[in-house]
Amino acid sequence: MSFMCRVCDSTALEPVLDLGDQPWCNHFLTKDKIGKEPFYPLRLFFCTKCATSQLDYTVKKEVMFGDHTYLSGVTKSLSDHFKQVATDVDAKFFRDHTQKSVLDIGSNDGTQLKHFKSLGYDVLGVESSKTTAKIAEDAGIPTRNEFFNLDSIEKIGRKFDVINASGVFFHLEELHSVTKAIKKGLKDDGVFVVQFLYMKSILENDAFDQIYHEHLLYYSLKTIEILLNRHGLSMFDARLAPIHGGSIIGYVGHQGARSETARLKAMRAEEVQSGCNQIDAYHSFAKRVAAMKERNVEMLKKARAEGKRVFGMGAPVKGNTLLNYFGVGPDLIECLLEKNTLRRDLYSPGMHIPILIEGEVPETPDIFYVLAWNFKKEILANNQALLDRGIEFFFPIEPKLSA
Ligand SMILES: [Zn+2]
Repeated sequence: MSFMCRVCDSTALEPVLDLGDQPWCNHFLTKDKIGKEPFYPLRLFFCTKCATSQLDYTVKKEVMFGDHTYLSGVTKSLSDHFKQVATDVDAKFFRDHTQKSVLDIGSNDGTQLKHFKSLGYDVLGVESSKTTAKIAEDAGIPTRNEFFNLDSIEKIGRKFDVINASGVFFHLEELHSVTKAIKKGLKDDGVFVVQFLYMKSILENDAFDQIYHEHLLYYSLKTIEILLNRHGLSMFDARLAPIHGGSIIGYVGHQGARSETARLKAMRAEEVQSGCNQIDAYHSFAKRVAAMKERNVEMLKKARAEGKRVFGMGAPVKGNTLLNYFGVGPDLIECLLEKNTLRRDLYSPGMHIPILIEGEVPETPDIFYVLAWNFKKEILANNQALLDRGIEFFFPIEPKLSA
Protein backbone atom coordinates (compact mmCIF):
# COMPACT_ATOMS: atom_id res chain seq x y z
CA MET A 1 0.00 0.00 0.00
CA SER A 2 1.16 3.46 -0.74
CA PHE A 3 -0.62 5.39 1.98
CA MET A 4 0.76 6.04 5.43
CA CYS A 5 -0.79 5.09 8.75
CA ARG A 6 -2.60 8.14 10.11
CA VAL A 7 -1.23 7.51 13.59
CA CYS A 8 2.32 6.13 13.27
CA ASP A 9 3.30 6.95 9.64
CA SER A 10 4.11 3.33 8.80
CA THR A 11 3.26 2.07 5.32
CA ALA A 12 2.72 -1.50 6.53
CA LEU A 13 -1.06 -1.52 6.12
CA GLU A 14 -3.14 -4.54 5.18
CA PRO A 15 -6.67 -4.48 3.73
CA VAL A 16 -9.12 -6.23 6.08
CA LEU A 17 -12.66 -5.29 5.01
CA ASP A 18 -14.04 -3.94 1.74
CA LEU A 19 -17.56 -2.48 1.94
CA GLY A 20 -17.57 -1.40 -1.70
CA ASP A 21 -18.05 2.08 -3.13
CA GLN A 22 -20.48 4.02 -0.98
CA PRO A 23 -21.87 7.54 -0.92
CA TRP A 24 -20.95 9.76 2.00
CA CYS A 25 -23.39 8.30 4.52
CA ASN A 26 -24.59 11.57 6.06
CA HIS A 27 -25.56 12.89 2.65
CA PHE A 28 -29.34 12.47 3.02
CA LEU A 29 -30.86 13.57 -0.26
CA THR A 30 -33.67 15.84 -1.33
CA LYS A 31 -35.79 14.30 -4.09
CA ASP A 32 -34.11 16.28 -6.88
CA LYS A 33 -30.65 15.08 -5.78
CA ILE A 34 -31.46 11.36 -5.95
CA GLY A 35 -28.92 9.48 -8.02
CA LYS A 36 -26.54 12.43 -8.23
CA GLU A 37 -24.60 11.62 -5.06
CA PRO A 38 -20.93 10.71 -5.53
CA PHE A 39 -19.60 7.32 -4.37
CA TYR A 40 -16.23 6.73 -2.72
CA PRO A 41 -14.33 3.58 -1.75
CA LEU A 42 -15.08 2.34 1.77
CA ARG A 43 -12.25 0.05 2.79
CA LEU A 44 -10.77 -0.75 6.16
CA PHE A 45 -7.02 -1.26 6.54
CA PHE A 46 -5.08 -2.50 9.54
CA CYS A 47 -1.69 -1.05 10.45
CA THR A 48 0.55 -3.99 11.25
CA LYS A 49 2.93 -1.70 13.12
CA CYS A 50 0.64 0.17 15.57
CA ALA A 51 -2.63 -1.84 15.16
CA THR A 52 -4.80 1.17 14.28
CA SER A 53 -7.53 0.30 11.81
CA GLN A 54 -8.40 3.06 9.41
CA LEU A 55 -9.84 3.99 6.03
CA ASP A 56 -7.47 4.57 3.16
CA TYR A 57 -9.78 6.97 1.37
CA THR A 58 -10.55 10.40 2.83
CA VAL A 59 -13.65 12.29 1.81
CA LYS A 60 -12.73 15.94 2.40
CA LYS A 61 -13.86 17.30 5.76
CA GLU A 62 -15.43 20.34 4.14
CA VAL A 63 -17.72 17.95 2.25
CA MET A 64 -18.56 15.93 5.36
CA PHE A 65 -18.77 18.42 8.18
CA GLY A 66 -19.82 21.69 6.59
CA ASP A 67 -23.50 21.09 7.19
CA HIS A 68 -24.35 17.74 8.75
CA THR A 69 -27.75 17.03 10.30
CA TYR A 70 -26.79 14.91 13.30
CA LEU A 71 -28.16 16.31 16.56
CA SER A 72 -26.91 14.86 19.81
CA GLY A 73 -29.79 16.29 21.83
CA VAL A 74 -32.41 14.22 20.00
CA THR A 75 -31.92 10.94 21.81
CA LYS A 76 -32.69 10.72 25.49
CA SER A 77 -30.12 8.09 26.34
CA LEU A 78 -27.42 10.14 24.64
CA SER A 79 -28.40 13.26 26.53
CA ASP A 80 -28.41 11.28 29.80
CA HIS A 81 -24.98 9.99 28.91
CA PHE A 82 -23.64 13.51 28.38
CA LYS A 83 -25.05 14.56 31.72
CA GLN A 84 -23.31 11.63 33.38
CA VAL A 85 -19.99 12.58 31.78
CA ALA A 86 -20.21 16.18 33.02
CA THR A 87 -21.22 15.09 36.52
CA ASP A 88 -18.42 12.49 36.72
CA VAL A 89 -15.70 14.83 35.52
CA ASP A 90 -16.76 17.54 37.91
CA ALA A 91 -17.11 15.25 40.92
CA LYS A 92 -13.77 13.54 40.28
CA PHE A 93 -11.55 16.44 39.46
CA PHE A 94 -13.01 19.93 39.83
CA ARG A 95 -15.70 19.92 42.51
CA ASP A 96 -13.78 22.33 44.75
CA HIS A 97 -12.69 24.75 42.05
CA THR A 98 -14.50 28.05 42.16
CA GLN A 99 -13.68 29.00 38.59
CA LYS A 100 -13.70 26.26 36.01
CA SER A 101 -13.82 26.13 32.26
CA VAL A 102 -14.54 23.62 29.54
CA LEU A 103 -13.90 23.51 25.81
CA ASP A 104 -15.93 21.06 23.75
CA ILE A 105 -14.53 20.06 20.37
CA GLY A 106 -17.26 19.08 17.92
CA SER A 107 -19.78 20.50 20.37
CA ASN A 108 -22.76 19.77 18.11
CA ASP A 109 -26.00 21.33 19.40
CA GLY A 110 -24.42 22.13 22.78
CA THR A 111 -25.99 19.22 24.66
CA GLN A 112 -22.77 18.30 26.46
CA LEU A 113 -21.94 21.91 27.35
CA LYS A 114 -25.38 22.62 28.80
CA HIS A 115 -24.66 20.02 31.45
CA PHE A 116 -21.28 21.58 32.25
CA LYS A 117 -22.84 25.04 32.32
CA SER A 118 -25.37 23.99 34.93
CA LEU A 119 -22.44 22.78 37.06
CA GLY A 120 -20.97 26.29 36.99
CA TYR A 121 -18.47 25.96 34.16
CA ASP A 122 -17.50 28.70 31.77
CA VAL A 123 -18.22 26.91 28.47
CA LEU A 124 -17.04 27.22 24.89
CA GLY A 125 -17.92 25.02 21.93
CA VAL A 126 -16.26 24.55 18.56
CA GLU A 127 -18.54 23.12 15.88
CA SER A 128 -17.94 22.91 12.15
CA SER A 129 -21.55 22.58 11.05
CA LYS A 130 -23.13 26.01 10.60
CA THR A 131 -26.73 24.88 11.21
CA THR A 132 -25.80 22.92 14.32
CA ALA A 133 -23.56 25.70 15.72
CA LYS A 134 -26.47 28.11 15.37
CA ILE A 135 -28.80 25.79 17.28
CA ALA A 136 -26.26 25.79 20.14
CA GLU A 137 -25.79 29.59 20.04
CA ASP A 138 -29.57 30.09 20.12
CA ALA A 139 -29.70 27.90 23.20
CA GLY A 140 -27.18 30.15 24.96
CA ILE A 141 -24.04 28.06 24.41
CA PRO A 142 -21.16 30.19 23.02
CA THR A 143 -19.98 28.33 19.93
CA ARG A 144 -17.29 29.02 17.35
CA ASN A 145 -18.31 27.80 13.92
CA GLU A 146 -15.03 26.38 12.60
CA PHE A 147 -12.83 23.29 12.43
CA PHE A 148 -10.74 22.86 15.57
CA ASN A 149 -6.96 22.77 15.10
CA LEU A 150 -3.76 24.51 16.23
CA ASP A 151 -4.88 27.68 14.55
CA SER A 152 -8.15 27.83 16.48
CA ILE A 153 -6.55 27.26 19.91
CA GLU A 154 -4.20 30.15 19.16
CA LYS A 155 -7.14 32.36 18.30
CA ILE A 156 -9.04 31.26 21.41
CA GLY A 157 -5.91 32.23 23.36
CA ARG A 158 -6.57 30.60 26.74
CA LYS A 159 -6.33 27.27 28.54
CA PHE A 160 -9.10 25.09 29.95
CA ASP A 161 -9.63 22.84 32.96
CA VAL A 162 -11.55 20.39 30.82
CA ILE A 163 -11.36 19.72 27.11
CA ASN A 164 -13.96 17.32 25.80
CA ALA A 165 -14.00 15.53 22.47
CA SER A 166 -16.87 13.14 22.02
CA GLY A 167 -17.06 11.06 18.89
CA VAL A 168 -14.81 13.38 16.96
CA PHE A 169 -11.41 11.80 17.30
CA PHE A 170 -12.03 9.40 14.47
CA HIS A 171 -13.29 12.11 12.14
CA LEU A 172 -10.09 14.01 12.20
CA GLU A 173 -8.25 14.57 9.01
CA GLU A 174 -5.86 16.87 10.85
CA LEU A 175 -5.24 14.34 13.60
CA HIS A 176 -1.85 15.55 14.73
CA SER A 177 -2.68 19.25 14.56
CA VAL A 178 -5.77 18.66 16.68
CA THR A 179 -3.91 16.57 19.25
CA LYS A 180 -1.20 19.25 19.52
CA ALA A 181 -3.91 21.87 19.95
CA ILE A 182 -5.45 19.89 22.81
CA LYS A 183 -2.03 19.64 24.48
CA LYS A 184 -1.67 23.40 24.10
CA GLY A 185 -5.14 24.31 25.36
CA LEU A 186 -5.11 22.10 28.45
CA LYS A 187 -4.14 23.58 31.84
CA ASP A 188 -1.30 21.85 33.74
CA ASP A 189 -3.75 19.88 35.87
CA GLY A 190 -6.44 19.85 33.18
CA VAL A 191 -8.32 16.78 32.03
CA PHE A 192 -8.98 15.92 28.42
CA VAL A 193 -12.03 13.68 28.14
CA VAL A 194 -11.91 11.65 24.95
CA GLN A 195 -14.93 9.59 23.97
CA PHE A 196 -14.71 7.18 21.10
CA LEU A 197 -16.21 4.01 19.68
CA TYR A 198 -14.29 1.11 21.07
CA MET A 199 -12.89 -1.10 18.32
CA LYS A 200 -13.02 -4.06 20.69
CA SER A 201 -16.81 -3.55 21.00
CA ILE A 202 -17.23 -3.08 17.25
CA LEU A 203 -15.59 -6.46 16.73
CA GLU A 204 -17.60 -8.10 19.52
CA ASN A 205 -20.90 -6.70 18.18
CA ASP A 206 -20.00 -7.29 14.51
CA ALA A 207 -20.98 -3.63 14.19
CA PHE A 208 -19.45 -3.10 10.78
CA ASP A 209 -21.97 -0.29 10.16
CA GLN A 210 -19.85 1.93 12.41
CA ILE A 211 -17.39 1.98 9.56
CA TYR A 212 -18.11 4.97 7.37
CA HIS A 213 -16.28 7.79 5.70
CA GLU A 214 -16.61 10.12 8.67
CA HIS A 215 -14.80 7.59 10.81
CA LEU A 216 -11.32 7.61 9.41
CA LEU A 217 -9.86 5.82 12.42
CA TYR A 218 -10.99 3.16 14.87
CA TYR A 219 -9.32 3.00 18.24
CA SER A 220 -8.53 0.60 20.98
CA LEU A 221 -6.89 1.73 24.21
CA LYS A 222 -3.56 0.68 22.79
CA THR A 223 -3.89 2.68 19.59
CA ILE A 224 -5.28 5.88 21.06
CA GLU A 225 -2.51 5.81 23.65
CA ILE A 226 0.08 5.61 20.89
CA LEU A 227 -1.41 8.76 19.37
CA LEU A 228 -1.69 10.63 22.68
CA ASN A 229 1.81 9.71 23.81
CA ARG A 230 3.21 11.00 20.56
CA HIS A 231 2.02 14.44 21.61
CA GLY A 232 2.94 14.45 25.30
CA LEU A 233 -0.44 13.37 26.62
CA SER A 234 -1.35 10.18 28.43
CA MET A 235 -4.47 8.38 29.48
CA PHE A 236 -4.73 7.79 33.22
CA ASP A 237 -8.25 6.38 33.53
CA ALA A 238 -11.01 4.98 31.32
CA ARG A 239 -14.39 3.36 31.48
CA LEU A 240 -16.63 1.56 29.01
CA ALA A 241 -20.09 3.09 28.38
CA PRO A 242 -22.94 1.46 26.43
CA ILE A 243 -23.24 4.41 24.01
CA HIS A 244 -23.08 3.31 20.35
CA GLY A 245 -22.80 -0.30 21.46
CA GLY A 246 -19.59 0.27 23.41
CA SER A 247 -17.67 3.51 23.77
CA ILE A 248 -14.63 4.40 25.81
CA ILE A 249 -14.65 7.47 28.02
CA GLY A 250 -10.95 8.10 28.49
CA TYR A 251 -9.45 10.57 30.93
CA VAL A 252 -6.23 12.08 29.69
CA GLY A 253 -3.72 14.48 31.20
CA HIS A 254 -0.30 15.88 30.44
CA GLN A 255 2.24 13.07 30.47
CA GLY A 256 3.17 12.21 34.04
CA ALA A 257 0.64 14.60 35.61
CA ARG A 258 -1.62 11.96 37.13
CA SER A 259 -1.21 8.33 38.12
CA GLU A 260 -2.92 5.51 36.28
CA THR A 261 -5.94 3.82 37.81
CA ALA A 262 -6.26 0.10 38.43
CA ARG A 263 -9.42 0.21 36.32
CA LEU A 264 -7.47 1.37 33.27
CA LYS A 265 -4.80 -1.29 33.79
CA ALA A 266 -7.48 -3.98 34.00
CA MET A 267 -9.12 -2.78 30.79
CA ARG A 268 -5.80 -2.84 28.98
CA ALA A 269 -5.23 -6.42 30.10
CA GLU A 270 -8.70 -7.42 28.94
CA GLU A 271 -8.02 -5.80 25.59
CA VAL A 272 -4.82 -7.79 25.10
CA GLN A 273 -6.73 -10.93 26.05
CA SER A 274 -9.44 -10.23 23.44
CA GLY A 275 -6.97 -10.19 20.56
CA CYS A 276 -8.58 -7.06 19.07
CA ASN A 277 -5.17 -5.59 18.28
CA GLN A 278 -4.29 -8.56 16.08
CA ILE A 279 -5.02 -8.74 12.37
CA ASP A 280 -6.59 -12.22 12.74
CA ALA A 281 -9.49 -10.69 14.67
CA TYR A 282 -10.23 -8.56 11.61
CA HIS A 283 -10.10 -11.43 9.17
CA SER A 284 -12.72 -13.37 11.13
CA PHE A 285 -14.78 -10.17 11.54
CA ALA A 286 -14.86 -9.78 7.74
CA LYS A 287 -16.12 -13.35 7.36
CA ARG A 288 -18.91 -12.82 9.90
CA VAL A 289 -19.95 -9.58 8.19
CA ALA A 290 -20.26 -11.30 4.81
CA ALA A 291 -22.38 -14.04 6.39
CA MET A 292 -24.58 -11.41 8.06
CA LYS A 293 -25.27 -9.84 4.67
CA GLU A 294 -26.47 -13.16 3.30
CA ARG A 295 -28.72 -13.83 6.30
CA ASN A 296 -30.30 -10.37 6.32
CA VAL A 297 -31.00 -10.14 2.61
CA GLU A 298 -32.56 -13.58 2.72
CA MET A 299 -34.78 -12.63 5.67
CA LEU A 300 -35.96 -9.42 3.97
CA LYS A 301 -36.68 -11.16 0.68
CA LYS A 302 -38.64 -13.83 2.49
CA ALA A 303 -40.70 -11.18 4.32
CA ARG A 304 -41.36 -9.50 1.00
CA ALA A 305 -42.42 -12.79 -0.60
CA GLU A 306 -44.85 -13.37 2.27
CA GLY A 307 -46.38 -9.93 1.68
CA LYS A 308 -45.10 -8.49 4.94
CA ARG A 309 -44.39 -4.77 5.22
CA VAL A 310 -41.01 -3.74 6.58
CA PHE A 311 -40.15 -0.25 7.87
CA GLY A 312 -36.73 0.84 9.01
CA MET A 313 -36.55 2.12 12.58
CA GLY A 314 -34.28 5.16 12.67
CA ALA A 315 -32.29 6.69 9.85
CA PRO A 316 -28.91 6.82 11.57
CA VAL A 317 -25.88 7.67 9.52
CA LYS A 318 -24.42 4.23 10.16
CA GLY A 319 -27.58 2.62 8.77
CA ASN A 320 -26.47 3.75 5.35
CA THR A 321 -23.28 1.71 5.54
CA LEU A 322 -25.40 -1.32 6.28
CA LEU A 323 -28.08 -0.67 3.63
CA ASN A 324 -25.54 0.10 0.93
CA TYR A 325 -23.34 -2.89 1.72
CA PHE A 326 -26.38 -5.20 1.88
CA GLY A 327 -27.85 -3.57 -1.25
CA VAL A 328 -31.20 -3.14 0.49
CA GLY A 329 -33.45 -0.47 -1.04
CA PRO A 330 -37.12 0.62 -0.98
CA ASP A 331 -38.20 -2.66 -2.61
CA LEU A 332 -37.32 -4.42 0.67
CA ILE A 333 -37.66 -1.63 3.26
CA GLU A 334 -40.47 0.83 2.45
CA CYS A 335 -39.34 3.78 4.54
CA LEU A 336 -37.16 4.77 7.46
CA LEU A 337 -38.91 6.25 10.49
CA GLU A 338 -36.77 8.89 12.18
CA LYS A 339 -37.08 11.30 15.13
CA ASN A 340 -34.78 14.01 13.82
CA THR A 341 -37.06 16.38 11.90
CA LEU A 342 -34.09 17.86 10.01
CA ARG A 343 -34.28 14.67 7.94
CA ARG A 344 -37.97 15.05 7.05
CA ASP A 345 -38.76 14.10 3.42
CA LEU A 346 -35.16 13.24 2.62
CA TYR A 347 -33.92 10.01 1.06
CA SER A 348 -31.16 7.72 2.24
CA PRO A 349 -27.97 8.14 0.20
CA GLY A 350 -27.23 5.29 -2.19
CA MET A 351 -30.34 3.20 -1.60
CA HIS A 352 -32.87 6.08 -1.75
CA ILE A 353 -35.28 4.88 0.92
CA PRO A 354 -37.68 7.71 1.88
CA ILE A 355 -37.42 9.08 5.42
CA LEU A 356 -40.59 9.78 7.37
CA ILE A 357 -40.92 11.25 10.83
CA GLU A 358 -41.84 8.97 13.73
CA GLY A 359 -45.36 9.69 14.91
CA GLU A 360 -46.47 11.16 11.58
CA VAL A 361 -47.10 7.83 9.88
CA PRO A 362 -50.47 6.25 10.62
CA GLU A 363 -49.67 2.76 9.31
CA THR A 364 -47.61 0.18 11.13
CA PRO A 365 -45.52 -2.47 9.41
CA ASP A 366 -45.27 -6.16 10.23
CA ILE A 367 -41.58 -5.81 10.93
CA PHE A 368 -39.43 -2.93 12.12
CA TYR A 369 -35.90 -3.37 10.86
CA VAL A 370 -33.98 -1.51 13.55
CA LEU A 371 -31.07 0.43 12.13
CA ALA A 372 -30.60 2.35 15.39
CA TRP A 373 -29.78 -0.97 17.10
CA ASN A 374 -27.53 0.66 19.68
CA PHE A 375 -30.64 2.10 21.37
CA LYS A 376 -32.16 -1.35 21.73
CA LYS A 377 -33.28 -0.93 25.35
CA GLU A 378 -34.76 2.53 24.78
CA ILE A 379 -36.53 1.41 21.59
CA LEU A 380 -38.05 -1.72 23.10
CA ALA A 381 -39.15 0.22 26.18
CA ASN A 382 -40.80 2.94 24.05
CA ASN A 383 -42.65 0.49 21.83
CA GLN A 384 -44.23 -1.94 24.24
CA ALA A 385 -47.69 -1.31 22.73
CA LEU A 386 -46.48 -2.34 19.27
CA LEU A 387 -44.70 -5.39 20.64
CA ASP A 388 -47.93 -6.39 22.38
CA ARG A 389 -49.70 -6.21 19.01
CA GLY A 390 -47.21 -8.73 17.63
CA ILE A 391 -45.15 -6.34 15.54
CA GLU A 392 -41.67 -7.69 15.18
CA PHE A 393 -38.54 -5.69 15.95
CA PHE A 394 -35.61 -7.12 14.05
CA PHE A 395 -32.12 -6.09 15.12
CA PRO A 396 -29.58 -6.70 12.35
CA ILE A 397 -26.86 -6.14 14.92
CA GLU A 398 -27.26 -7.37 18.49
CA PRO A 399 -25.34 -5.12 20.86
CA LYS A 400 -23.61 -6.82 23.78
CA LEU A 401 -24.04 -3.47 25.57
CA SER A 402 -27.11 -1.32 24.94
CA ALA A 403 -28.27 2.13 25.92
ZN1 LIG B 1 0.25 2.69 12.42
